[in-house]
Amino acid sequence: MHHFQYQNGALHAEEVPLARIAEEVGTPVYVYSAATLRRHASVFREAFPADTVTAFSVKALSNLHVLKLLASEGLGADVVSVGELERALRAGMKPDQIVFSGVGKRREELRAALRARILQFNVESEAELRTLSEVAEEEGIEASVALRINPDVDALTLPGISTGKKDDKFGIPWERALETYTLARDLPGLKPDGLDFHIGSQITSLGPFERAAERAASLVRELRGAGFDIRRLDLGGGLGIPYADGDQPPLPSAYAEAVTKITAGLDVQLIFEPGRVIAGNAGVLLTSVVLTKHQTTKNFVVVDAAMNDLIRPALYGATHRLLPVAQKEGDPSAYALVGPVCESTDKFTDAAMLADPQAGDLLAFGTAGAYGAVQASQYNTRPLVPEVLVDGGSYKVIRRRPTLDEMLALEE
Ligand SMILES: *Cc1c(COP(=O)(O)O)cnc(C)c1O
Repeated sequence: MHHFQYQNGALHAEEVPLARIAEEVGTPVYVYSAATLRRHASVFREAFPADTVTAFSVKALSNLHVLKLLASEGLGADVVSVGELERALRAGMKPDQIVFSGVGKRREELRAALRARILQFNVESEAELRTLSEVAEEEGIEASVALRINPDVDALTLPGISTGKKDDKFGIPWERALETYTLARDLPGLKPDGLDFHIGSQITSLGPFERAAERAASLVRELRGAGFDIRRLDLGGGLGIPYADGDQPPLPSAYAEAVTKITAGLDVQLIFEPGRVIAGNAGVLLTSVVLTKHQTTKNFVVVDAAMNDLIRPALYGATHRLLPVAQKEGDPSAYALVGPVCESTDKFTDAAMLADPQAGDLLAFGTAGAYGAVQASQYNTRPLVPEVLVDGGSYKVIRRRPTLDEMLALEE
């Protein structure tokens, strides 16, 4: 469910024509829908028991204005760096709804999070347990720790975004869970009172979530049997969304029903870390056609967005629905759709179906709200792509396009 729809043949974000944003802000530009973000946040949150922490995965879409909106919907944050922690705090997210994930947190990052009194550190190695213990002692602040255990579950997703198999770099191996909890209990300054799983991203069936939740529930029981006071169970993120027509990932309500059935009776506070399912369908990347080009056997459309603005196709072979901003008459044919960056991987698709594309035509990449703007770079000295937030009949620029002087200033 999202709010990017055609009205009289013109694609709108809520009540604002995308053509107007392109005209006033320029392209390429990310456009988000506030109504869609609010709806996704409330649908997810309401699917779970009231004491559940819904910690939005900030890495999916980290603009401060978006985080503020999600904070006002009652969401917390899952952060993976001190920079994301700062964003979450500035956006008004409550420290007791913030968890800190990541496989390589630095000492100063741990310190900042301790001082902020966040809810939980998701720790993935013995080495980090030892560092966290030292910093907690220095600060005189006890750290609530959840160990991220790798359940060795195949998430059945793209290989580039699977994280829960035994040789992925993430998590602590299942067989070493008990000894690592014991180490955490023995180290000063740590309170190992949570358990954390995260098996991957863009997961489109319930099976992997159910298997992971079953493993988590049995581990909670085992740990309690060994004397650990486990109070929180963090089941991570990963719920998939429809990128193409016909994709039918589980709805948040079905996901919630499946996992809460398994965790019922455990008497733990649940934590989830959804990213994509909140932000993905709430954004599009708006671009315009620079030119068309006919090679020997192939027709190309070159747009002004490139892999530096939206890297998912080049990085994982992901595809995005392509929507003409003004619907056109005529039979569509297949074009390779590419950006201007000097890399052959700067290609969005080989088979964009377009009717008579012309320079200046506007196109929108659908489902670009998550892992879009956040992964943008200035490769080829292209300015970092701006972001716009539409709310009803109006919009605001929530990150403006830098000028060339601003881009070069750090090098002077
Ligand atoms: C990326 C990530 C998430 C969010 O994943 P989505 O697929 O966007 O829901 C949650 N938790 C951790 C630890 C992550 O690395």
